[in-house]
Parts: sequence; C-alpha cells; structure tokens
Amino acid sequence: QGAVREHLGAIADVDATPVEVRLPRDLVDLDALVLPGGESTTMRTLIDAYGLREPIAALARAGTPMLGTCAGMILLAERIADGDAPVFGLVDVEVRRNGYGRQVDSFEADLDVPALGPEPLHGVFIRAPIVVEVGPRAEVLARDPAGRPAAVRQGRVVATAFHPELTGDRRLHRLLAELVAEGTGR
Ligand code: GLN
Repeated sequence: QGAVREHLGAIADVDATPVEVRLPRDLVDLDALVLPGGESTTMRTLIDAYGLREPIAALARAGTPMLGTCAGMILLAERIADGDAPVFGLVDVEVRRNGYGRQVDSFEADLDVPALGPEPLHGVFIRAPIVVEVGPRAEVLARDPAGRPAAVRQGRVVATAFHPELTGDRRLHRLLAELVAEGTGR
C-alpha cells in the first residue's frame, strides 16, 4: 500500500537498486528497507499473514537501515496511543494515528530540517500520525510548523510522519543510502 512506486523511483534517484518486497524471500540480501505509507492496521495484518514480522525484526537486529514513512512510522514506533500494540518497536516515540485530525486529512508544509541542511524540506502529510512524545533514544530530524516532531531517527532507523517520496527532495532517501554506505564501508 501507499506510494510504493514513488519510493522505488526515489531509491533509484539516490543510485541504489529498488527491490519490491512482498514475501520473506524478497528480504534476502537487502541493504536497507523502506516501510511505505498505507493503512497501518492493514499492513500489520498483512505483515503477519505473509510471515514478514520475524524476518524484518531480524534485519533490524542486524542493523539494516530502515526508513518508515507515515504508516511506516507507525510500524516502527515503540508506542502507539490509544492501545494498539507496537509492530516493530524500533524508535523511541509515541505516535497517534490520524493525529492531525479528520478535517485536515491532508496538508503540506515546509519543515525545518537542521540535521539535513539549511533548505526547508517540503512535507506532504496524508492522514498522518502525530508524534506525541519522543524518548531519549530518538533524535528529532524535522518539525512541523507547530514545532511537533515530524521526522525522527534512532541509530540506523528513520521515521517520518510525512511522505518524502512525493516530492523531488531526496535528502531522506539519500540519508538511508548513506547509512548503508557507513555500515558496509563502501
Ligand atoms: N492513517 C494511516 C494509518 O493510520 C496512515 C496514512 C498514510 O500512511 N498516509 O495507518
């Protein structure tokens, strides 16, 4: 689900080779993993139906860089407000699904991203999760216009409330490629 095709294009834009993951065998030999947007409740069900939970958790334990966008951020969060169990629990944040509200299902905003350079990053938020709390193990990479965290990083895992694949700005996909390069010494 989600803007998968755009993520594939963004990965190619940073000179990496995109591979679509549907089944556990598709995870073999991946250098990095993107968890796209979509509907996190459906994705949670499909992750278990297709046996992807344990192999993705194993990639995380091996230090594989990951980027989760929107619903992907929800899958990576350690805490989900209002009772949902965490899925991969890799980033020390609490998120609230659809936290930006029903009436504002969707909006765009320029975000401050000091960690990625002086240029603002254009964020497309589509029924996005709100980050309600960031714990000490996570670092804020970007904030929304109200100052709330909109992108976070914990080690080699990056999560965004917005959809970086829907703009031409490739800094987040490039960060993922850099994390791969750091890890392999390439
Ligand atoms: N609202 C979706 C969810 O809660 C996320 C939307 C998105 O990924 N664009 O899972």
